[in-house]
Amino acid sequence: MAYHPRYRLSAVVLKAAEELAAARAVVELLPLPFAQVRRPTRAFGVFSGARASVAMQLVLCCTACTEPESFAFPSTRVVYDSELLRIHAAPGLEPCAGTGSSMDRTLEFFARESGLPVLEEPLDLYWLPDEEVQAVCQTEMDIGGCFLSTSESVTKDLPEEHELIHAYLQRVGGGTSRYAFFDEGLALVYGSDSMQLAPTTDLQDAILFSRGLPLHHYARAGHFVAFLVDEFGPEQTVGFVLDTYDVTPNSLASDFARHFGPSLSSVISSYETGTTSCTSAGWQRRADCEDLEPTPWSSEFSWTAEVGAGCSAIGSIGSFDGPIRERFGLQIDEAGVFDVRPERSSDARRPTVDLLRCGSCEDEFSFAHDLDDGWLVGLPLEPGFYIVTSTFESEADVEATEVNVRRRP
Ligand SMILES: [Zn+2]
Repeated sequence: MAYHPRYRLSAVVLKAAEELAAARAVVELLPLPFAQVRRPTRAFGVFSGARASVAMQLVLCCTACTEPESFAFPSTRVVYDSELLRIHAAPGLEPCAGTGSSMDRTLEFFARESGLPVLEEPLDLYWLPDEEVQAVCQTEMDIGGCFLSTSESVTKDLPEEHELIHAYLQRVGGGTSRYAFFDEGLALVYGSDSMQLAPTTDLQDAILFSRGLPLHHYARAGHFVAFLVDEFGPEQTVGFVLDTYDVTPNSLASDFARHFGPSLSSVISSYETGTTSCTSAGWQRRADCEDLEPTPWSSEFSWTAEVGAGCSAIGSIGSFDGPIRERFGLQIDEAGVFDVRPERSSDARRPTVDLLRCGSCEDEFSFAHDLDDGWLVGLPLEPGFYIVTSTFESEADVEATEVNVRRRP
């Protein structure tokens, strides 16, 4: 990963940031080939008659599409229910109290930005153990989830936003399949539950995949679609993706120009000549950057967030099995040098903390540090709005503490 030279402060900080980025990137995208499939031992529930009668085409976000086949979901119970989202969890899976509402905010943000209609019925998300995700998604790969042509989606981890973006488009678009490169790109830009690594593949190769985008092209798809969002706005970009069900690699250039105006080759040319500011991750659109209230500074030099409230607290995102995240808004009005540290009132396990500046390139300006190893010191922070995320590995690790940000005089 490339880091901007002026932030090349500490090998420890950069290494931690890289590890975090790498760890997040596998959340949904990295298949482990030949993962063993075990059929679930508990009894399956079946679809209702109406659902079962639908010819269900399975659309995997992470692998090639499989043949349409009817299937059954395992038995679940509803653990979150709102106007936009209904989460069905397998026995034993319990979300943290703020998880569903956090995903709601992502969906609201996506709908607001893209001008899509509010849904009349909530999206259904099934949260299942690994092997059941594989069974329902009909794959032997160790995937994070998939979505179905009936606009249900399936996940093995919460929060899950990427599949919900697919499902939202699926619902609005009437169940038609869309051009994979653009569809995946859009889900990556707005499904910001994972941090993406730098694109490494050639755009001209990646853009030819209208179906079954290979995983190694995902980052390129997200990066390019983010560029389209910047250039043409969310509404026009989402409108294009929604209408791509009959676009083919051969017709792409003419369909693109008809929708956007400029030719595809001229847009690619300006994309490749570097009008995009981010060379790597940092192209995601995050609801938190728009609507998270900043936690006020307690003095000119000190900012404190109380963390470790536990999975039952309304601000906690994740599941009891972990990881459990809490997010805070940090407004910095004046550039300076800052230290980030936990209060040292106990020997409790301390959270991993990372900072992300909204509207900037994440690879150039994100820091993560395991505070067990000490402080995150000497950060030269620019003015802006930051999301500070505290992560405990599981409920068992949670202990109330504070994360403190100090401006050096
Ligand atoms: Zn996807």
